[in-house]
Amino acid sequence: MDVFSKKKRSDVMSRIRSKGTKPEERMYVLLRTLLPGEFRIYKHASLPGRPDFLIPKLKLAVFVDGCFFHLCPKHGHIPKSNIPYWKPKLESNAKRDKRNHSKLRRMGFSVYRYWEHDLTNRNIVQTENRVEHMIYKRISTVLVN
Ligand SMILES: [Zn+2]
Repeated sequence: MDVFSKKKRSDVMSRIRSKGTKPEERMYVLLRTLLPGEFRIYKHASLPGRPDFLIPKLKLAVFVDGCFFHLCPKHGHIPKSNIPYWKPKLESNAKRDKRNHSKLRRMGFSVYRYWEHDLTNRNIVQTENRVEHMIYKRISTVLVN
């Protein structure tokens, strides 16, 4: 499913890298670049958790979550100051995420979550491959069955 030439790909990647783009915008560029044009992408659809991106044709919901507020396994932590405030807040965020993801799954969506740290310049190439794989998997599952 290599829709784009190597040249076009590296153009896209350097565009993503150079701008001071936010993780969510970077993910949009990846999705838009890797998805065939007929697949529409909706932002913040009115569904549980308001997925950052929804591709209805692929029954696919994609989240791009901040490492701190969503307690990423690598960088998430409870700040040492004001623990009584942060601990319940961050833990309930994480619980709510879980609940929303399972609601979406029960509605028939595949849920993929990417972290802020997945979209850094250091990790973006690896993430591009993961996104491509995700799309490929959804296309072969949804459209073939
Ligand atoms: Zn992280």
